[in-house]
This record gives sequence, C-alpha cells and structure tokens, in this order.
Amino acid sequence: MEMKDFGLNDLVEMKKGHPCGTNSWKIIRMGADVRIKCEGCQHSVMLPRMEFNKKMKKVLVKAETE
Ligand SMILES: [Zn+2]
Repeated sequence: MEMKDFGLNDLVEMKKGHPCGTNSWKIIRMGADVRIKCEGCQHSVMLPRMEFNKKMKKVLVKAETE
C-alpha cells in the first residue's frame, strides 16, 4: 500500500469533498485515528489512519515542521 506523507496541520484534499462544497481539510489530530476539519464549514471528522490514507488524495499545503 502506498504510504503518503502527511502530518499535523497539513491541508489535504480528499478523494471525495465535503457536502458543503469544500475539498480542503486540515489535519488537527494525528494518532491511531486522524481527525480532519473542513476548511469550509469547520465540521470535523475522525477516521482510522488506514482509512484516511486510502481516502486522502493529496497534500495541498504542508505545514511547517517544528
Ligand atoms: Zn464542509
């Protein structure tokens, strides 16, 4: 399986956008589960990391690393 490079605070695009019409999500929590927040309506969803990896299309903006 392809492993994508993503991290906390990155902005990502999912294969399927949010029903509000936005397809830009910010990663707000990383762990066994990944929580992302829609940049359009601030709705957040939590996905198991494996599922997130499958559903994520690409990283739009890489966050600064500390
Ligand atoms: Zn939304």
